Amino acid sequence: MEEEIAIENIIFLNDILNEAYKDYISIELDEPETKDLLYTSKIHLHSFTENRKCSVKYCRKKAVKSHLFQESLLRKNAHNGHYLYPAADLDKRKIKISKVGINKALTFPGFCEFHENMFEYEKKEQLEYDHELQTLIYKAICYHHIYWDIVLKKTESSVEKLIEKRYEKFEKFTNGKYRSLFNLLNIEFKDFHFADSRHKDFEQLLKKRKKIVNDALKFKRLIWQDIILDKEENLKSHIIEIDKVIPIFFSYLGNLTIKNEDLSFDDNACLIIHPFKESTKLIFTTKTENFSTLKKLLDRLDIESALHFILSSLLYVSDNWLINEEFYNKYLPVKLKEALESANFLPLKPI
Ligand SMILES: [Zn+2]
Repeated sequence: MEEEIAIENIIFLNDILNEAYKDYISIELDEPETKDLLYTSKIHLHSFTENRKCSVKYCRKKAVKSHLFQESLLRKNAHNGHYLYPAADLDKRKIKISKVGINKALTFPGFCEFHENMFEYEKKEQLEYDHELQTLIYKAICYHHIYWDIVLKKTESSVEKLIEKRYEKFEKFTNGKYRSLFNLLNIEFKDFHFADSRHKDFEQLLKKRKKIVNDALKFKRLIWQDIILDKEENLKSHIIEIDKVIPIFFSYLGNLTIKNEDLSFDDNACLIIHPFKESTKLIFTTKTENFSTLKKLLDRLDIESALHFILSSLLYVSDNWLINEEFYNKYLPVKLKEALESANFLPLKPI
């Protein structure tokens, strides 16, 4: 007799849960509610400076506002004190090429005042020694690590907020219909996991961003070891130098794919495009074990294709760049400008 009642109870409970599930998946979030989440990878780092510590291992001092790119060179290559960069237009849900002043141009809470002095090349406006190159790459890697770490935290809180919002809507829509039953059974509604495809999307996004943060952290550790040992042991770099000052500052850390005939490179790499005193350098860095393939591929690039590579990087590799406005207007191919100005997201996926 007791058993029968128990089975009936379970069937009854299952019916209620099925019904609750049907009601729950019928709750849709509207666009403004999800907008915050979709665009959390377009953030400004200025407001985060207050709470961050220095990036250098074991240093617990407060980070000041660091420039990703050398400030004096930013000043020298600017047009009327500003740069163009791809900002997010949240209302139109697209990229808007906007102006940014030098003081805010790719600054981040990177290093304490003491460690800001480790970037010796910045005083000379050129790279002379391997050690200077390594600190430049270190700075770029730290930038990406901090950037994605903040983005990840913002994404996590946006996801939490969205889930809460959905539960709120559900409660309102069902008029608290299930509340008393769940109270009776001592079930906390918020702990209740429905098989919701939307949740899976959020989880995928979080997972992806966690991986980016971890990969950046790995690179940061490797380059720091190299700096301490003063060796190119873990990471190796290849530089392509163009004997013209191209006023584009660009930095990327993540998966890089380069293919040419029989060769292909598809792995994590750091790419920096940086104008110096009299030339522009494209600095490619990857793990030592992958370096030879990358180098073979880069050796095949002549100057013209290197220039082409710089321009296509603005569209296909990263949205983390600054460009002189006059240069943008005069020298960028019309088709590239059109593509940049009509993009919903950057970087675009190559077709
Ligand atoms: Zn420090």
